[in-house]
Amino acid sequence: MNKHDAERVSGMLEALGAVHVPTLEEADIAVFMTCCVREAAEVRLFGQIASCKNVPVRTGSPLAQRIIAIGGCIGERDGDELLTRFPHVSVVFGTHSLASLPGMLKRCLSDRVRQSDTSDTADAFSTDLPTKREHAWAAWLPIMTGCDNFCSYCIVPYVRGRERSRTIEDVVTEAQRYVDAGVKEITLLGQNVNSFGRDRYGAPRFAELLQRIDATGIERLRFVTSHPKDLSDEVIAAFADLRSLMPALHLPFQSGSDRILQAMNRSYTRAHYLSLIAKLKQACPSLALSTDIIVGFPGETEEDFGATCEMVCQVGFSQAFTFIYSPRSGTPAAQMRDTLPREIVQERFDRLVALVQEEAYRFNRAAQGRTLAVLVEGVSKRDARVLAGKSPQNQTVHAALPDDLDIEQLIGTIVPVRIDETKTWYLSGEVMRG
Ligand code: SAH
Ligand code: SF4
Repeated sequence: MNKHDAERVSGMLEALGAVHVPTLEEADIAVFMTCCVREAAEVRLFGQIASCKNVPVRTGSPLAQRIIAIGGCIGERDGDELLTRFPHVSVVFGTHSLASLPGMLKRCLSDRVRQSDTSDTADAFSTDLPTKREHAWAAWLPIMTGCDNFCSYCIVPYVRGRERSRTIEDVVTEAQRYVDAGVKEITLLGQNVNSFGRDRYGAPRFAELLQRIDATGIERLRFVTSHPKDLSDEVIAAFADLRSLMPALHLPFQSGSDRILQAMNRSYTRAHYLSLIAKLKQACPSLALSTDIIVGFPGETEEDFGATCEMVCQVGFSQAFTFIYSPRSGTPAAQMRDTLPREIVQERFDRLVALVQEEAYRFNRAAQGRTLAVLVEGVSKRDARVLAGKSPQNQTVHAALPDDLDIEQLIGTIVPVRIDETKTWYLSGEVMRG
């Protein structure tokens, strides 16, 4: 969601005549898009903002100053306080006031006033805002904003507001526009896409939305994120039925212990989660499952943690994002007393990471010798002669760039790659020709 918001900010700045530059030194305007889901990101952000003070204004800057703006979740949460805390920050905007950024920047330039706007008057989706997509062949498509779930550890409902779904027509029209413009992959965005439509139509209509988007002719369709309590049989069936829906699902389980799940207010049990996995594997045997896991939630015992590790092995995830529990002020969990010592949490975290890596490797091994349809995204960070892309199951795939082909011709196309080598986090192989 933040990446998508950042693309909108880039689009609005370009519409004002700005151009993107790679470093802060060269920038006259710097916009920080922020996240406050965990404390670590927040600490890093505040460090970066503080150090901006020491970066001199670019020689020849027509603005004769550097305008620093903070947006996103921390902007929403802290508003004016950020202007007080950082006298060199000029503009603060929130998650619902993206559209006010150009106006604030203009006022800042003309009247030199510092301002914050965390109002909720702007259109929540701002679909008319210009967007500068990072890749011509891929598009993020937000279908809803906010979250109604109030998991006890999570700040998102407080900074992104209640669930608000777009209309089906609106989403499908936007998807069709992308398909007509040559986009190959659409990723639908929402904190809990399974409940899409509930606020607007009285009942979720996500499965119907998937069918309608599939019918636009899109090559690859993905979505994040799904809440297990709302994953319906119709959505599970879509993995078997829809041509474009890629065989990869991110389904956070957070903890394998029912006691902890209840304290987290997740509204499902371990058995329910496992029953979903069984149905999913039946509908789509090649499905890659990824997940999010929190370690060290207040009161987590060794036994609870053991149940989490057991889940990881039982499901066989292709990937898992593991997080150390981070208390967020204002959430119910932040009031819980039985917090755990840092060393115990770290030790559990390290064990979990090792387990997740084993499982990821095991998953990737199954691709050895197979030929996968890889959507080329660019070149490998380490070697410009190696192309990098994604398999249908969302694995990163590397392959030597064929001598007679230019990467620019290949970006955004789907090529067959035979997998010769499998690692924990990527696969590599050879592009098959003819
Ligand atoms: N809406 C998505 C997740 C959004 S936040 C969902 O429910 O699946 C992404 C992930 O961050 C969560 O799945 C959770 O694992 C993690 N997370 C959220 N709040 C956290 C906290 N306070 N401490 C540690 N991890 C957290
Ligand atoms: Fe946070 Fe839970 Fe909503 Fe996800 S579903 S955003 S974890 S409150």
